[in-house]
Parts: sequence; structure tokens; C-alpha cells
Amino acid sequence: MNRHPQIYEGKAKILYATDDPEILLAYFKDDATAFNAQKRGTIVGKGEINCQIAAHLFRAIAAQGIATHFIDCPATNEMRVKAVEIIPIEVVVRNIAAGSLCQQTGIVLGTVLPEPLVEFYYKNDSLGDPLLTRDRLLLMELTTAERADILIAKARQINDILIHFFQLCGITLVDFKIEFGIDKHQQILLADEISPDSCRLWLTGEPDPNLRVLDKDRFRRDLGKIEDAYQQVLARVLGVQE
Ligand code: UDP
Repeated sequence: MNRHPQIYEGKAKILYATDDPEILLAYFKDDATAFNAQKRGTIVGKGEINCQIAAHLFRAIAAQGIATHFIDCPATNEMRVKAVEIIPIEVVVRNIAAGSLCQQTGIVLGTVLPEPLVEFYYKNDSLGDPLLTRDRLLLMELTTAERADILIAKARQINDILIHFFQLCGITLVDFKIEFGIDKHQQILLADEISPDSCRLWLTGEPDPNLRVLDKDRFRRDLGKIEDAYQQVLARVLGVQE
């Protein structure tokens, strides 16, 4: 496809314009960052792997009636997406305690939560992506009360779909981060990506706390075999027969 000038470069993707103003091309990079980009590296093949995993998950989510920005993949590391204005909120859904939830609350790693926890973080690197209360979110006019409720409902539905999908892969969905955007029809679309960069994924039934990790925590915590883990997630995702 005809590639136009780059319009945005993020930590893991570059967005290009296309001939159609309503469609962007997302190029998935091998670059990896963690801890607000203080740690940087490369995960060989990550761009292709994450693009394919995200494409598969977007299809599974769309099949359940949730609108996403995904259109198709013209190449293994390129995704055509609908142009949206990203809502600057990271919506995190947690099923099992890990990461910042454990650090900030003392809840023990691996604790199964009585029900999924949906949280909002402000997508702002210079502020360190702080956790927001609902009132702060409204005070900052990041979204309206009505849209906040829609985001929570969509996040819960997406969690149900992903839990089921990953169960079929022999993978436990610990937590994940999603982003939403508004298209030109004022529709809320699931946007960005869903991949081992943005989810915690544990190999179901693996008791070893390091061996079970199939996501970016391998990079964050220098656990090694990062490429193998990402490849394993892709192979399992592609193997699902729904
Ligand atoms: N996450 C993400 N991008 C971020 C922050 C978090 O994709 O900027 C994902 C992260 O991979 C995990 C979930 O959101 O799956 C919850 O992350 P947490 O708040 O525990 O933060 P972390 O421990 O990664 O700092």
C-alpha cells in the first residue's frame, strides 16, 4: 500500500497516514521499553508477533460485537486501523494481583481477585501515568461520566472475551491495559494493541513464578527467553479453534 509520511511515533508503533484520511497504517516495532521508558531494548521479532497477536484478538473481540479500530494486516508487522482520537486514559483490568497493584496495596502477588478490578490511569509520561480516581478523571475532563461508564462496561466485556480466549490457549490472563479512541462518527472504538506488551499472561498450571511468565515482565525483570515467550503466545493464539 502507498505509504505516506509518518504522523506519530510511539514507543512500540509508528503511525502513517494513508490515501484515505479515515485510515492509518500502524507499523509495529521491535523496540521495547519499560518503567516509563527508563529501560529500553529490542525484542527480536516482537513487531511481527505483537501485530499478529493483536490482529487475532481484535478479530475475536469484534466477533462478540465490540467495535475496534482494526481493519486488516497488509503485512505481518503492519495493521490498517480506523483513525481515532485516542482518549488519554489507560484502562487496566485485573483478575489476579500483580505489578503496581501489589506494590501499592500489599496484596500478595498471585491473589485471585474476587471480581475483576477496572482502573483508570492518566496516559501522560511526564506525570508517570498516575492512577486516577473517577472524580479526578471527570475534574480533568478526560472524559464524561457517561463515557467513563461505557469504558468500564466495555473493559469488563473485553476481559470476559479475553479470559475465555486465553483459557483455550492454556494461558491465564492476569491483567491487561487497553486504550479507546473516538472516531469521526463519535463512536468509541477499542484502539492501540493487545499483546504480551500490554497484558500479563501466565502459562496455566506452571507453578514456577518465573517460568510461567509469557509477557513483558520477562523484559522488565530480565528473566531471559523473551522472544521464546512471545513466540509461544503467538503459536498458542493462532492454534485456537473457537
Ligand atoms: N501496562 C501497559 N502499559 C503501561 C502500564 C501498564 O501495557 O503503561 C499493562 C501491564 O503490562 C500490565 C497491566 O497494564 O499488564 C497492569 O500494569 P501495572 O499497573 O501493574 O503496572 P506495571 O507493574 O507494569 O508498572
